[in-house]
Amino acid sequence: MMYPQLTQDGQIHLYKCHRRYIHTAHGWSRTGSSSPNDAVASAGHGAKVNHDDEAKVVKSLMGQLCEKFYAKGWMPGTGGGMSIRIGEGNLGHPYTVFSTPSGIQKEDMIGDDVFELDMDQNVIHLPVTPGLKLSSMTNIWFVIYKLRPSAMCVIHTHSLYAQLATLLDQQDLSGEDEEKDVLRITHLEMIKGVGNHAYDSMLEIPIIDNQNSEDLLAPDMERVIQQYPKCNAVLVRRHGVYVWGDSWEEAKTRIESFDYLFESAIKMKSMGIDCGAIPARKATKVSIKRKRDDEEE
Ligand code: ZN
Repeated sequence: MMYPQLTQDGQIHLYKCHRRYIHTAHGWSRTGSSSPNDAVASAGHGAKVNHDDEAKVVKSLMGQLCEKFYAKGWMPGTGGGMSIRIGEGNLGHPYTVFSTPSGIQKEDMIGDDVFELDMDQNVIHLPVTPGLKLSSMTNIWFVIYKLRPSAMCVIHTHSLYAQLATLLDQQDLSGEDEEKDVLRITHLEMIKGVGNHAYDSMLEIPIIDNQNSEDLLAPDMERVIQQYPKCNAVLVRRHGVYVWGDSWEEAKTRIESFDYLFESAIKMKSMGIDCGAIPARKATKVSIKRKRDDEEE
């Protein structure tokens, strides 16, 4: 029987390749820009970044991020995944889409496990690790990249808060049963973190129904992304959430903010507070003002 290779201090060699190529604190948001200020260039190379180097950085970054997301409980039991896109969409620097594979434990995922595709969904580089399959959520990355042309990163989690947030309407006194197709949240500071919204905006996160296979979510995903032009996230009922951003940092910031909001919504509901309702004091002020205006008329 073959035993895993051990390091000198007795640790198992789980991560064989460039997993920690560069720490995530480096400015990788510009990865793919090809400018002299590009992330890889700023990390010390100085010259125009070649595709293989850039791909190596992106893949190892994905390994690091998935490990972090696993630790947060967002990618348990091989669930969830992510994609990063690089390039400019022109002939000189076409888009390349990186995708996590199917059925892999995210805390153990390494750069060598990542698929590389073009914008027509052709695999241009298989993972170095043999035997891995393309994930059924790959379809969804492309729906988002096509409908949100500035998006460069999509993260999909099976976070418990995201999943439970899709069930908040179950307890509605109105008797409605899993009918609502949108979660509304307002007057929470962290709304600012999801992009395109202020503290007192009415944040609307569309909810689509789950399917037996992730790729079957594509038509509904397409519909709601068009229906909610301000949204940066789609909830999947009894399943999880998809969040995107114009860089991996933006997608990560947003998904952290969304998750905080989902947790808030659930806990507020248990306190008897509707996260989609304007706070009572504010409502009173508005109604007093309205009353005054009415009297003046
Ligand atoms: Zn999923």
